[in-house]
Amino acid sequence: MQLDPIVSVFSDTELCVKCGLCLPHCPTYGKTLDENESPRGRLSLIQAWAAGQLEATPALLTHIDNCLLCRSCESACPANVPYGRLVDDFRQATTTIIKRPLASRIKSIAIGITLQSPRLQRWSALANRIFSAIGLMQSFGLSETAAGLPEMYEHGQWYGFHSALGKETAKVALFLGCTAELADAETVTAAIRLLTRLGVSITVPSEQGCCGGMALHNGDGKGFAKMKRRNLLVFQNSEFDTVLTFASGCGAVLKEYESHGFNSKFIDISNFLAELSWPDNIFLESLSAKVIVHSPCSLKNVMKSDRHPIVLLKQIPGIHVESLIDVPNCCGAAGTYLLNHPEMAHALREDFLVKIKACSPDFIATSNVGCAMHLRAGLKQNGMGHVQVLHPLVLLERQLAVKSNNPSPLRSIS
Ligand code: SF4
Ligand code: SF4
Repeated sequence: MQLDPIVSVFSDTELCVKCGLCLPHCPTYGKTLDENESPRGRLSLIQAWAAGQLEATPALLTHIDNCLLCRSCESACPANVPYGRLVDDFRQATTTIIKRPLASRIKSIAIGITLQSPRLQRWSALANRIFSAIGLMQSFGLSETAAGLPEMYEHGQWYGFHSALGKETAKVALFLGCTAELADAETVTAAIRLLTRLGVSITVPSEQGCCGGMALHNGDGKGFAKMKRRNLLVFQNSEFDTVLTFASGCGAVLKEYESHGFNSKFIDISNFLAELSWPDNIFLESLSAKVIVHSPCSLKNVMKSDRHPIVLLKQIPGIHVESLIDVPNCCGAAGTYLLNHPEMAHALREDFLVKIKACSPDFIATSNVGCAMHLRAGLKQNGMGHVQVLHPLVLLERQLAVKSNNPSPLRSIS
């Protein structure tokens, strides 16, 4: 019997046995206690829609749209329901039916275009400083984005080949993602310095592009396919066995590219560093500081690497490392979610801010740039702007010491 294509695509909704074990792990259910805002409820809505029993009304679409795609439910599900894939497919199938408010769509389009162009990112970083100073970012409703950006960071030339310092122990490629220039420059520079000092040669292909995550999660299947093709061309048949990612949101998307053997090439940089044997002449200088490690949902639920940043940071002598284990849910950033659902994004972040305030740390270490921006903005707005939010490897690189002092491997921008 030939299955209807819609029924076939969504047949995995039937794997859900409605046990409800996912409910305590769902941030939107936790905040609303509404079953329509839970994984089980959303799966039931998609199932009924695919079977033709429910119309794709704005109310139904909004329940699915409210999902953060944090995938905590997937990690808890005993029936292995591919929840994330089902929601992405549903959003793609219904993308023309739901229309977000015009202002929200303009913001998403403007951010999408900016992130595709390093030159535009450089200009927008500069414009952000000027416009923030005169209050224009607030007028455009972008004060959150402005507050979340790190200080402007002067960096060297990233693209091309960076040779290992000393004996070469590994060769890798580095995936930058589309936000590196604007929001994560210090992380990229620290990654190149740290890896080369540890004997790792790095290639940073200039032809790489955005992972496509924002397009995928917003129902733009064509846009996602285009970005995926571009990255497959760059990385699939290349000589690298390992491609390192440092923004876990990108890593999670790349890991799920459907291409034979390709996804296994992608490793989160903390995972790689934790498993690498470090040269004997490298050590970490002591740091008397308290660090809270934030585990992004993408690192925890998809990359399954949330323990590695903690393992690495604990190698720094004198450091006090704490993880936010009693705040298990998403911080609310979730890609562009915080732009389209600011109320839920702020409510979820509030739980983290309360805990951070109680711990009074010097640093928050997080492996995803979107979470870093969201938390940084919240800290600034709550009188905790002195707490630095950074990638764990930035902290590691700052403490790196070499017994023979070699110069920095980064070339300057020509
Ligand atoms: S992905 Fe996250 S927000 Fe969405 S249903 Fe699952 S747990 Fe809830
Ligand atoms: S845990 Fe899995 S099977 Fe159980 S209700 Fe949630 S999605 Fe369904």
